[in-house]
Amino acid sequence: GAGTSNDEFKFKVVLLGEGAVGKSSLMLRYVQGNFNPRHISTIQASFLSKQLVVDGADIDLSIWDTAGQEKYHALGPIYYRGSHGALLVYDVTDAKSFDKVKMWVKELRRALGDDVVLFIVGNKVDLADSRTVETEMATQFATSVGATYEETSAKENIGVENLFELMCSAMVSRA
Ligand code: GDP
Repeated sequence: GAGTSNDEFKFKVVLLGEGAVGKSSLMLRYVQGNFNPRHISTIQASFLSKQLVVDGADIDLSIWDTAGQEKYHALGPIYYRGSHGALLVYDVTDAKSFDKVKMWVKELRRALGDDVVLFIVGNKVDLADSRTVETEMATQFATSVGATYEETSAKENIGVENLFELMCSAMVSRA
């Protein structure tokens, strides 16, 4: 019969940020729906894919994780080349990890230009008592660099699905 055909998009997004901020945990929470409290470090970059529909568009999303390579300062353009979006993750209990996000914003804007969709992600909001980076400060910084700010807990499953859907919606608008 007369089938309907949605727009179709293939998007690549990369997770960037200091080690142990929760990049792998966010990816696994979103794609596999679970959380592993143990920190398993692997040495190769890897990715997982997920199909979703956002704003009436079929999206084939591949999410790239550094898998600990940031520790060896080995992350370069080869990793983020061709990305439509980047999730720059920090840990809200670790101000140093927020500084690292600022570094990544500069590098990505220089390498990928204004078209790349940048989301700054404050993860581990479940650890409210140890929080050191305030929402308002992070939001102001994100706005000043043309990024979107979102907060998540991979552990408690707060804001994770919303984050990836907003990211896809923003990439569809740019496409
Ligand atoms: P990555 O090195 O950035 O990929 O970080 P991981 O995903 O390996 O997480 C590092 C550690 O933080 C692990 O022990 C995780 O269990 C923990 N972690 C990740 N996300 C959260 C979160 O939202 N809340 C809390 N409390 N711990 C988290």
